[in-house]
Amino acid sequence: MPNARYKVRVTKDSLVFSSGHFITFNGDHCERIHGHNYRVAVEVEGPLDANSYVFDFIALRDQAQALVNELDHRMLLPTRSPLILLEDDGPNILARYRDRRWSFPREECVLLPVPNTTAELLADYLAARLRAAWTDLGLTLPALMRVEVEESFGQSGQVEWHRDEV
Ligand SMILES: [Zn+2]
Repeated sequence: MPNARYKVRVTKDSLVFSSGHFITFNGDHCERIHGHNYRVAVEVEGPLDANSYVFDFIALRDQAQALVNELDHRMLLPTRSPLILLEDDGPNILARYRDRRWSFPREECVLLPVPNTTAELLADYLAARLRAAWTDLGLTLPALMRVEVEESFGQSGQVEWHRDEV
């Protein structure tokens, strides 16, 4: 179909991670620690392949699930924040924001290469990890992908990535 566009979307009840975080905002504010039951949706657009797929649904589901599992029941900490500073503290990670301190067992944390653990940047992180996984598998990256991270009902962040704009 020459004028058709094709898209697959994966969002499952299992694509949920329950994690802790806190973000900084407006330059000098820092949230209290809290958690969300984050829900992930992944969309891929592109031409149909020899199987008439845009992308193998099952593979996409499994790849997204593996990433979600890495984040589930963890404290999410940003390694690129100019305001939340992380230090090794024996078996723990110490997070500092001005005169506030939090200490977490290292194995209960995920250190994310983002400046802030907003839903938008969590989506960006997951999208980058998916593209890296596809590259490792020797797959051609899709023309367009979107990842959405919902942190509460009706409140989500999304990133859209276009292959040709990289
Ligand atoms: Zn939050």
